[in-house]
This record gives sequence, C-alpha cells and structure tokens, in this order.
Amino acid sequence: MELEILLKKYFGYSSFKKGQKEVITTLLSGQHTLAMLPTGTGKSLCYQLPGYILNGQILIISPLLSLMQDQVEQMKRLGEKRVVALNSFLSLPERNRVLRHLRDYKFIFISPEMLRVPFIIHALQQLTISLFVVDEAHCISQWGFDFRPDYLKLGKIRKKLGSPLTLALTATATKKVREDIISSLELGNDEIKKIESTIDRPNIAFFFEKLADYQDKQNRIIELVSQLEKPGIIYFSSKKAADHMASLLLERGICQAMAYHGGLDSNTRVLIQQQFIHNQLDVVCATSAFGMGINKENIRFIIHYHMPMQIESYLQEIGRAGRDGLPSVAILLYAPGDEQLPLQLAEGELPSEQQIDWLFANLTGEQMLIDGEIELKQELSTLGGFSEVQWRIIKEYINNPDRQINNLDRLKTSLKEFVRERSQIKHDNIFFMKKLVDADSCRREFILHYFAEEWTQKVSSCCDICGVNLREYQAPAKSTTIQTYKEDWKDYLAKILINGELSK
Ligand code: ADP
Repeated sequence: MELEILLKKYFGYSSFKKGQKEVITTLLSGQHTLAMLPTGTGKSLCYQLPGYILNGQILIISPLLSLMQDQVEQMKRLGEKRVVALNSFLSLPERNRVLRHLRDYKFIFISPEMLRVPFIIHALQQLTISLFVVDEAHCISQWGFDFRPDYLKLGKIRKKLGSPLTLALTATATKKVREDIISSLELGNDEIKKIESTIDRPNIAFFFEKLADYQDKQNRIIELVSQLEKPGIIYFSSKKAADHMASLLLERGICQAMAYHGGLDSNTRVLIQQQFIHNQLDVVCATSAFGMGINKENIRFIIHYHMPMQIESYLQEIGRAGRDGLPSVAILLYAPGDEQLPLQLAEGELPSEQQIDWLFANLTGEQMLIDGEIELKQELSTLGGFSEVQWRIIKEYINNPDRQINNLDRLKTSLKEFVRERSQIKHDNIFFMKKLVDADSCRREFILHYFAEEWTQKVSSCCDICGVNLREYQAPAKSTTIQTYKEDWKDYLAKILINGELSK
C-alpha cells in the first residue's frame, strides 16, 4: 500500500513532514538508519508508520519516563491499543502481566534501566523484533557516560536481540556525536544510512541580553513574562532558583506558574506536565528535566535564566518553542560570572584526582576477581563521599569489559586520564556556549557552524544582533491569557492523588 494512504489511514495526515518519508523508505528497504531531524518534525512517526508494515514488534528505547508516557498516551489516543511502556511506573504484578502477554503488543517502549534486567531481555528474545529504535540517541554521547550509562550498552543488547533493523533518532548531534552513536550501536559507518536535516528552526528568534547581576535577571524575567505572549518555559540550572521564580511569578499575580525539577515526586511532575500541555499553566520554571518529548505546539517563548552546559542542550531546549511554526523567541539572560555555575556542575559530575587516589588506596588486590572485574562495595561510595553520578562513572569505567586492564595502578592512571579528558570536553562545551553569548555576529550562523552546517538562507526575524525586536513577541494588548485554572492546583493535585488516577 502506498505510504501516503497508510499515513492518512493511521494518523490522519495528508502529507509527510520533511525527512519522514526518506527515513521510512530507507528503513523499509532494510537499511539501518540514523536520522537527525529537528525537534517537532515528527520523529515518532518514523517508527510508528513502519510498525503497520513490518511483521514483528517495534521496540523503542526511550530515555525519559515522562517522554515514554507521553508517546504511549498519544498512540492510544490515535486508536492504537497494542502499545505498552515497560518502565518503573509499572507495579510488579502489572509488569509480570505485561511480560506474559508481550507478544500481543506491537509497540513496546522500554527504559534503558529495564534492559539491564536479564529476565526482561529473555522475554524480549522470544519475540521477533522487526525494528529496534533508539530515541533521543544523542544520550549515548552527549550525556552518555555521565548520565545514561545504560545507553552505552545498547550495542550489546541489540546483538543479544538478534541484531534487528535499527533506527537511531536525534534532534541535535554534532558530527562527533553522530559517530559516537554509530560506534556505540556497534555498527560500522557504512552499515548505517545517515539522514540529516538542518537543525535550524527559522521561526525561532534568538535574543541574548547581558545584565548586571542575578537581581537584574530576576527583574527582567518578571518584566518579560508580563509582556511576552505565553505559554513559555524558563530554564534554570538550579532547582531552588526554579522554585523561587515560580513562586515569585505566582505571588505577584503575573501568571499561573509552577516549578518542575527532579526534586519533585513523579506524580507531581506528571501533573505539572499535563497542566502545561492542557493550557492550565502559563509558565513552567524548570530544570533540564522538563521538556524532552513535550508535545506542545504553541510554546511562544523559552527563557534561559542560567546558561546551559552545551550548545546541544541549548538547542534542544529552545526547540520546544514554536512547533506550530508560528513566531517564537528564545531569550538568554547573562550576568557576569554566570559561566561559574556550569563549570561547577561539570566538576561535580566527575570524581576528583584525590577521590580516585582515596578509592584505589582502599581497594585491595583481593577485590579483583578472576575475570578482571572489581567488586566496588557501595560503602566505599558513602565513605569516599562520591555523588551518585561520580560513582556511576567509576563503576562503569572500572568494570567495562572492553577495558581489559587488570593491574590496579594502571587502572587508576587510565581512570584519571579518562576523567581529565571528560573534564576537558565539558570545559570546551561551556567555552563554546560562552562564545555564543559573547558573539558579535549572527547567533544563528554561529550555531549552524557549530553543527558544521552550511549557512543557506537568512531568516527575517533572526537574532538580537541581526536586529530582532522583542516587541514582535508581546502578547496582544487585550491579552487573551490562556484559560486560567480556577481550582487551586494543590487541591487539584490532592484530589487526583487521593483518587490514585496518576499512579496507574
Ligand atoms: P519530534 O519527536 O520530532 O519532536 P513528534 O514525533 O513528537 O516530534 O511529533 C511532533 C508533532 O508533529 C506531533 O504532534 C505529531 O502528531 C505531528 N506530526 C507528525 N507527523 C506529521 C505529519 N506528517 N503531518 C502533520 N503533523 C505531523
């Protein structure tokens, strides 16, 4: 059947968005594919539609719980019942029931953590997986070792599942990251077709402002949020700052605002996300935990209160604006010294040389097992004051089966070298972000160059340096602020949690 007919039949769309058809036809010709398509271009359809053509099951590895829930809900709304998410939201009996009936599902979403569980792998091995999808594949590299170590094992898992046809999807990946993705999947460069679309989003204007200090930034945010057309997201690198700004906006009656970050329990996070999607909130003051996969068309502005740690994250975050194609704006506020926070965060994610020395002084040869694996007792993490991320890095590094170093001294030296290298990469990333802040020529051009993209067409509302005026993004005089949520959100939350609706 013609692809357009299937597109209409299952999704109700009359034509493909840019890149979709090429990805789908490549997959259907049996070629592994790495697709880099900008946020909002409909990457999900690239595996959903082949699902209606290919015989076996579609396995989608997705890094974020909220993202996964969203995608499952969306498919259910489209009438697809054979879809399930295998993640920690499922209770044990639910998980067992799903595993018993795994064959009945066509689309199986799974978190990388779940893929660590041997009996889940075993259950998946009984299926015929016709497409292995790695969503947000840049997590292999951009955050890979630090934050998603499980992603690094996907190559091995893919092999265990019989090396099925593979699709890696991402919106932002530099050339180096794209290479990382391919090698982590244990595929050769010539074994995978790369389909890369521009990362540029011409309807999003860039606006960077330098202010004196944090107080100035705070005041400026209040001013901007009062004036700009909503809804919008304000990104922070600190949970406290996000909380503070959300309460300020609420208390001053500027708008309906909530904070969203990893410090909230998962029910609250789902609720905030739903309220935002359903236009019951004007602004979310968030950390980077918010937004991956948020399918909201009409976000009009993204403000960065803190500078992200890399241009990739910046682009990913601003890419949540203007999915409806209407004019939107990305504003970054900078005050002198702002780069200190990302630098500190970067340092904190890696173990220091002293910590590594301490750890190896407390490891004895006896802990080295015959196959070269070292038993790293959890108490060492506590005693050495390692953070969760630092400890994960150490564990991953030391017990990587590819490492094959079975001498403690050499292992220590190579771990230190690895940490130095990672630290350099992080510093370089922050340096580029700062260069973008300080740029005195077109910001769009700077970003495109960073991703090694050709500068093709000048857009009319480009950036502050090219003369964009923020007035273009103001709410109309008689602001038709989105329908405000009448009920106090806390009461609403309590009601829902008591009814247990969100824990399902
Ligand atoms: P991405 O993952 O690339 O950010 P999604 O897959 O979440 O994007 O899709 C973004 C939006 O585009 C969704 O609302 C989706 O339903 C819509 N969409 C996808 N494909 C098409 C199409 N061919 N025509 C119109 N809308 C589409």
